[in-house]
Amino acid sequence: MTAPGSPPEPVADVLIVGAGVVGTAIARTLARYDLDCVIADAGNDVGTGTTKANTAILHTGFDAVPGSLESRLVRRGAELLRDYAQQAGIPLERTGALLVAWSADQHAEFAGIEDKARHNGYLAIRYVPAAELYAREPHLAPGALGALEIPDESIICPWTTPLAYATEAVRAGVRLRLRTRVLGVTAADGWHEVSTNSGSMRCRWLVNAAGLESDRIDAMLGGGGFTIAPRRGELIVFDKLARPLVGAILLPVPTPQTKGVLVAPTVYGNVLLGPTAQDVFDRGDTATTGTGLSSLLAAGRKIMPDLVREEVTATYAGLRAATEHRDYQIRVDSSRRYACVGGIRSTGLTASLGIAEYVADQLAEAGLELRERDGRRPKPPVLPYIGQAGRRPYQDGARIAADPAYGDIVCHCERVSRGEIRDALASPLPPADLDGLRRRTRATNGRCQGFFCAARVASLMGAPGGARADRDARVLA
Ligand SMILES: Cc1cc2nc3c(=O)[nH]c(=O)nc-3n(C[C@H](O)[C@H](O)[C@H](O)COP(=O)(O)OP(=O)(O)OC[C@H]3O[C@@H](n4cnc5c(N)ncnc54)[C@H](O)[C@@H]3O)c2cc1C
Repeated sequence: MTAPGSPPEPVADVLIVGAGVVGTAIARTLARYDLDCVIADAGNDVGTGTTKANTAILHTGFDAVPGSLESRLVRRGAELLRDYAQQAGIPLERTGALLVAWSADQHAEFAGIEDKARHNGYLAIRYVPAAELYAREPHLAPGALGALEIPDESIICPWTTPLAYATEAVRAGVRLRLRTRVLGVTAADGWHEVSTNSGSMRCRWLVNAAGLESDRIDAMLGGGGFTIAPRRGELIVFDKLARPLVGAILLPVPTPQTKGVLVAPTVYGNVLLGPTAQDVFDRGDTATTGTGLSSLLAAGRKIMPDLVREEVTATYAGLRAATEHRDYQIRVDSSRRYACVGGIRSTGLTASLGIAEYVADQLAEAGLELRERDGRRPKPPVLPYIGQAGRRPYQDGARIAADPAYGDIVCHCERVSRGEIRDALASPLPPADLDGLRRRTRATNGRCQGFFCAARVASLMGAPGGARADRDARVLA
């Protein structure tokens, strides 16, 4: 990065704008090749945009628009991420989904949904009669007429996923520039001159993975083929005591306007109800609202009244990067040495590795030379497991005996130990703040939302700026 007045820094081969799940997946894929690659994000961490606040389902793509790029990349991405998650320690549970019909009209939609699934290459969908449905989901409200089972729909950790991608990329030599907002791009002789809030950068190729800002970055490159119209989705997180109420992800029959409100377990042992779908103007408006939450509780009461009687742990909202087009806005322009990866609306977590593979292929076709590094193919990192289904450090007697810090519980709601917090702070991508630590360890993510542990967690993180300064030194080294 060149501060004003300093000599220009060398021209990077590729600059990726945006370190969400899509940008980090692309960085991780390009890290295999002999390239000087930089990833820049305006935030203080990876995955602080839409990536951190979604429904966290690894979709099969059974309900995508057949023939769309999204359908193809969701299917491919799910296959790749299923495998990657196992290697990288990303929590993933194959709960399956049940798409429930509550009226004769909805029941009549099943044939079309099954047909669509087959056109999307998903053949395992099958009809579940009402008796079997209630045997499997006894807490469903009365009145369901039957369901379609999609056995491969899964739940996944949306926080560990971009962290794993970014860690792999950084270890392989990709330079991560956080707190770096791209403000403008001008064409120079064979490269792009990129101005940011902290100096200028140069790159031969630019990849735009800026999520809710992807249309604005596109406009800087002379694009203008789409406009982001943020669609807010609010969600309610129920307490872990609600988890036994729900077996599979419970989906509604979609309408042409919306996929509707679902009930889904989380990999942290909670239950989600949501999301809403509301168009908003402000690209930063992730507030939850009284109207939105009331509408969710009303919908939840019709699906599973026992669930809405449980305690609420938290509420949150995420913004989908919707556009005037139905499909992803991905295109590579060889004359401008530019890849636009925008409008990744509702399925980007699932499709991330499929998108990355596709973008790398398109870049190669457009003239970016992709030469594998000799004998140095990066391997997935193994991240600390933060799911509920597997074994955590506090449950591991041998580990505690070897290192008592894993037996010193700091966050009692989520059973997070001092050892895990210490490890997160010493990791290749340490957190910059409490929210970042939460996404790495689950500390403060539980029932009390940090009421009892936040002070100790904060003191373990050190003086304000301490962890951050340490992290900048490491990431930018
Ligand atoms: C309510 C909801 C539910 C969802 N459920 C699911 C689901 O169950 N399964 C699924 O697969 N997907 C789901 N999604 C979609 C998924 O979350 C997104 O598709 C995905 O997170 C998009 O990732 P991204 O990297 O494109 O965008 P982001 O995560 O938003 O990342 C973009 C990054 O670009 C950075 N940036 C922006 N402008 C600039 C700039 N000028 N300079 C530098 N950096 C910049 C931002 O800081 C941000 O970090 C859901 C989305 C929502 C909102």
